[in-house]
Amino acid sequence: MDLKDIELLETEISDTKELTQSKSLSTHKHITLVQVYFVAKDDAFLYLCENLILHEGDHVYVSGKMKDNIGIVVDVRHQFKVRPSKYERVIAKVDTKLQGEFYISNRFLLSFDRASLGKEKISQWFFSPQGEEPYISTYVPAPFPLDDLSQFPIQTARLERGIQYYKERRIVYLCIDDIYGYAIVQGSEYYEIEFVYRNKMIEDISCSCYCDGHCKHEFALLLELQNMVKMLPGEFGKEYNNSKYLAVIDKEVVWHMSIRWASKGSISFRSETEAIMVN
Ligand SMILES: [Zn+2]
Repeated sequence: MDLKDIELLETEISDTKELTQSKSLSTHKHITLVQVYFVAKDDAFLYLCENLILHEGDHVYVSGKMKDNIGIVVDVRHQFKVRPSKYERVIAKVDTKLQGEFYISNRFLLSFDRASLGKEKISQWFFSPQGEEPYISTYVPAPFPLDDLSQFPIQTARLERGIQYYKERRIVYLCIDDIYGYAIVQGSEYYEIEFVYRNKMIEDISCSCYCDGHCKHEFALLLELQNMVKMLPGEFGKEYNNSKYLAVIDKEVVWHMSIRWASKGSISFRSETEAIMVN
């Protein structure tokens, strides 16, 4: 849809304590009224933004009923007169800038540099800082070899769904820093998986989903990890051995988060398809 055609709606608020802020707002210098577009809802709403300098194209999280969705700033207004209690707030700006050297391997961009594609940065692209508290689990699985998943204790139905998820390319991000692994999987929502990979063994693995026991997200990740581990020595052995670090991200995610809405920056293609530089 054309963003200009979006009907502007005041966001509903559920909590009247915001009213107490209204006196100071009237004299506040760093307040803007921003229009935020949510791709997931194909809709845009107005929010008040305090103490964050925003530009069109920035990705943000907000309070209120859209709090779990990342949004894109499509308009920033400095001149306005509103009742502040009628509006939810922009609560965080997300760093979507990428910098560094990336390699291409099929649908993924790869980095062997801890300063690029780090999990702290990329997890913000998927998870709101207001997200639910994580589960705790006392279950620690027995170690099993990555190349023999028949030793991974999972129900058959979940295993089959995991294979499906793998085929549907639902692993959107994967990072291995020494022995510590982290991945983001797209299920009905996004989930985080943490694991330990040492001496070709998965020593521990857990997913942030509601599942009791091992889940389809974990199985899909294990299949993707098998692929990566097979591919690394031949194609990127030198790079990986130097850093003992690998981060991969789906190219589509990079396009949507870091390039599509960017208004400046540069990309250099050093050869036809070998490397992409994003500044
Ligand atoms: Zn899961």
